[in-house]
Amino acid sequence: MKPKLLVSACLLGQPVRYDGQAKPLSEQDWRRLRQKFDLIAACPEGMGGLPTPRPPAELRGGDGTAALRGQAGVITATGEDVSAAFIDGAGQALDLAQAHGCRQALLKANSPSCGSRRIYDGRFSGTLKDGEGVTASLFRQAGIVVCSEEDIDVLLDAPSRQAAQQSEFS
Ligand code: SF4
Repeated sequence: MKPKLLVSACLLGQPVRYDGQAKPLSEQDWRRLRQKFDLIAACPEGMGGLPTPRPPAELRGGDGTAALRGQAGVITATGEDVSAAFIDGAGQALDLAQAHGCRQALLKANSPSCGSRRIYDGRFSGTLKDGEGVTASLFRQAGIVVCSEEDIDVLLDAPSRQAAQQSEFS
């Protein structure tokens, strides 16, 4: 049985981004992923009740880890605090990942939810800074290995974490 991989829905071609668009992986990457994993699609922002399209939002005052502690906020370009929806959606996405036994997740780079290495700096200026999104942070705290489409070759070339663990015990 293939290990299960939770994947940002927009990377799988679902038009769920704030602008109503998708950011699909290439056909080749999608095929390679499906050969190795059973894919579970999730969009944390939609799961948290946010509509599509929606105003863009960025983390302000810290990254997703700080937002989970109440020390930073997710604020839209129109000034609305949507932190609660982001945190709720992250929790629902984690529940889904755990219900399917996912040990790894492929999450869209640079998103205030899904970004795993960099996020926008909160000024809506297109500037990235180091940090992770709310969902990426929650997943890592729960022990799920998170990577983005920028690391997809590493994910595809490495033995899966589940397979590696199974071979350790066999
Ligand atoms: Fe894609 Fe994640 Fe944003 Fe949903 S929350 S649109 S899955 S980057």
